[in-house]
Amino acid sequence: MRIELVNTGNELLLGDTINTNAAWIGQRIAALGLMVSRHLVVSDGAVIGEAIAEAASRSDVVLVSGGLGPTADDLTREMTAELLGLPLELDERLAQDLREFFAQRNRPMADSNLRQVMVPRGATVLPNPFGTAPGLYFPAELGRSRGFNTHVFLLPGPPRELKPMMENQVEPRLGKLIHGDRRRVVRYLKITGLGESDLVARVERDLEAIEGLGLGYCIRAGDVDLRLSGDAQCVGQAEALVRSRLEAHIVSDDNRLLEEVVVAELAALGQKVATAESCTGGLLSSRLTDIPGSSAVFGHGWVVYANEAKVGQLGVDGGRIAQHGAVSPEVALAMARGALARSGSDHALALTGIAGPGGGSHEKPVGTVFVALVSRVGPDLVLPLLLPGSRDRFKLMATQAALDMLRRRLLGLANREGTQEA
Ligand code: AMP
Ligand code: MG
Repeated sequence: MRIELVNTGNELLLGDTINTNAAWIGQRIAALGLMVSRHLVVSDGAVIGEAIAEAASRSDVVLVSGGLGPTADDLTREMTAELLGLPLELDERLAQDLREFFAQRNRPMADSNLRQVMVPRGATVLPNPFGTAPGLYFPAELGRSRGFNTHVFLLPGPPRELKPMMENQVEPRLGKLIHGDRRRVVRYLKITGLGESDLVARVERDLEAIEGLGLGYCIRAGDVDLRLSGDAQCVGQAEALVRSRLEAHIVSDDNRLLEEVVVAELAALGQKVATAESCTGGLLSSRLTDIPGSSAVFGHGWVVYANEAKVGQLGVDGGRIAQHGAVSPEVALAMARGALARSGSDHALALTGIAGPGGGSHEKPVGTVFVALVSRVGPDLVLPLLLPGSRDRFKLMATQAALDMLRRRLLGLANREGTQEA
């Protein structure tokens, strides 16, 4: 099934608004096991009609966003009606809803607002609980007299209006259209601790041999999301293969983030983690606390950037810092031990490293980081890593390694290669 997307609005072309609708819709369509074939961004005005005509002439479904509002440049509805040869009729019920909307807010209603409740004959109204402009659905048969055979959806521009309409009104309809087409499934496997080339080396050749399998890689900060799509049988076969080869590297198969998995596992075990961070400046505790419910599993986090803070706050031995350097496995472990003892948690993670661009040496180049995990039960662990790159990326990947170390412990999985017991 071929799907095209048309996003309208001068603000998108001027760069004032980033076209987040295109990315978000792309993901939603991918989750249905399909892919948007093309997207087109056009300015407000008559060109919208041309863009929709062009897209409709070569696809089964056209999704349009923006230009449904009350201002003079919002012409999507009129352009589509004209293109498909459908007269616009005032929908009295919608008009009444709109009058009430303004009355409730004690605002007078300008007549221009009524444009939003003009419905092209035969089109289905898609309710918009978060704004004044409803969406519209034109089933394929409505355009036949003009030579089209395409389902057209008109959606609002503001993401908070578009997203619920897409999820509640558009996707169920697309689901039915796909069903008539062929049942496809899509599976995302979130993989951590392996670069793209390692991943390719371990599974790609065998996955490519599976007939009918769609394979995609999405790289994010050193992690890879593997997308498997196709019919249920071939996706199942592919997933089994990936699981047998990558096992402990697979974080989730339902789009859950690493920190979500860690918080959920801690909660299930009734355990807590504390954090002691130097080079990541609190990113690890920030990521944990991004997850709803984290208060049950996280109570204490320290940012100990200076040596005095490591000594004063966590009881790291100053002599040890002098002997091994602040960036060392010994200090990472001492930070974790200090955090465990002071917080009374079940686990403590610590990070110390050199984010750069300055501060590196021959022995400890920029990008060096030591991740330590100390738990009430189980051996103390430390993992040395070299993560060159920007500070942002360094911090993200270092915290990723720390979360993964804890995830593996909570799930009883093997440690990542290179991890040492202390
Ligand atoms: P419109 O319905 O075109 O008048 O759009 C109303 C508002 O929605 C604009 O002010 C934009 O900032 C926002 N908007 C429109 N299209 C997009 C898009 N593709 N991505 C993100 N925001 C958008
Ligand atoms: Mg507009």
